[in-house]
Amino acid sequence: MSETKILLTEKEIPAHWYNIQADMPQLPRPPLHPATGKPVAPDDLKAIFPMSLIEQEMTRERWVEIPEEVREIYRLWRPSPLYRARRLEKALDTPARIFYKYEGVSPAGSHKLNTAVPQAYFNKQEGIKRLTTETGAGQWGVALSQACNFFGLECTVYMVKVSYYQKPYRRSMMEIFGARVFASPSEETAAGRKILSAEPDSPGSLGIAISEAVEDAAGREDTNYALGSVLNHVLLHQTVIGLEAREQMAKAGYYPDVVIACCGGGSNFGGLAFPFAHDKLVREAKVRLVAVEPSACPTLTRGKFAYDYGDVAGLTPLLPMYTLGAEFIPPGIHAGGLRYHGDSPLVSQLVHDGIVEARAVDQTVVFQSAVMFARSEGIVPAPESAHAIACAIEEALAAREAGEARTILFNLSGHGFLDLPSYDAYLAGKLEDYPLPEEVLARSLARLPRVDLG
Ligand SMILES: *Cc1c(COP(=O)(O)O)cnc(C)c1O
Repeated sequence: MSETKILLTEKEIPAHWYNIQADMPQLPRPPLHPATGKPVAPDDLKAIFPMSLIEQEMTRERWVEIPEEVREIYRLWRPSPLYRARRLEKALDTPARIFYKYEGVSPAGSHKLNTAVPQAYFNKQEGIKRLTTETGAGQWGVALSQACNFFGLECTVYMVKVSYYQKPYRRSMMEIFGARVFASPSEETAAGRKILSAEPDSPGSLGIAISEAVEDAAGREDTNYALGSVLNHVLLHQTVIGLEAREQMAKAGYYPDVVIACCGGGSNFGGLAFPFAHDKLVREAKVRLVAVEPSACPTLTRGKFAYDYGDVAGLTPLLPMYTLGAEFIPPGIHAGGLRYHGDSPLVSQLVHDGIVEARAVDQTVVFQSAVMFARSEGIVPAPESAHAIACAIEEALAAREAGEARTILFNLSGHGFLDLPSYDAYLAGKLEDYPLPEEVLARSLARLPRVDLG
């Protein structure tokens, strides 16, 4: 019988991040400047990003070195453990082998710190004093606050209003690490004030919060903006997850048949799946890669593959991605980190080209799966991560139907210790599903910018 907990030593923390742009059969179309509609040049991004991250955004080099200062901080929690979910396997009475990579051991409680640390580091290197950002459920805000704290940078966070009230302790965490936190839409920015005057009770959205953070950063010389997902350099940083997991799976003596992660902007999915996508693209490994999203915000499964803005005010470049429309405001589901109208261009392209599969699940099923997982494995998962659990359970049950010893690997992207009010709502029978009505989707998609994807 193989081990339950498969560990690596600190020396085995990857020395490089893996860049899937080196191996994709088709690269995403370039981002377009919001004013001119022309492909974005590195200089266009200099107002809000440091040059080193802009280079990482665009490079096609397969391996990008991880600076020693970053690896030193990674050592606080990396390599993260890989578990064999034996007790869950037993509860499901399945012949499937279920493994999960646990990113909740980071001080931030999620995978987000894997990119927050290098983003703070590279900004510091280029003389930046302050970072602004948006946060949904608050995990990204917590991670960036911690990373800024490590490198002596100031941090301002625009937190989506519905989450600000649903997850009050995430704000406390950010403030412990010295960040200033505003409920978004806020009175701090023109973008926020405009939304508030039209809709004073707006629950907010990531698209709105991004507009506020970008506006703030663009207006100050000493300030840059940091994004917690979606962009190529963010997914690049997250590949430490999959690189470690591949080693750990080899140690366990198995190779996954299916790799699963939840998908909001795509960073924990890309982080786990891209090293396996490399095996699939370059070595013809027969691994399936599945991105799981909420049915209330079904970007990959029902969105349109098109150019769209990353934010509501149209301040960001136009990105080629699956989108529900930048003005789409998802219902206030409890997986706040998955309430984004768009998706990573890299993940979108891979879905479009049939290399990655996408699934959508209802939040009641998600919480049912989360509680089952907690009762068998002992970890209370983040509601976001529980989307991956729901899909892993579905795969394990399909394996039981088929009498097949499928090997399943999923990402447990974070713990849910600060999501307990959401669990209370579930246990009290108060959670609802929000299937997205076709006419709401059609109305939102009708407002997409008219740019040909070519
Ligand atoms: C933010 C977050 C997500 C969603 O973001 P991705 O960029 O899609 O990974 C998923 N899980 C957790 C725990 C998160 O904090």
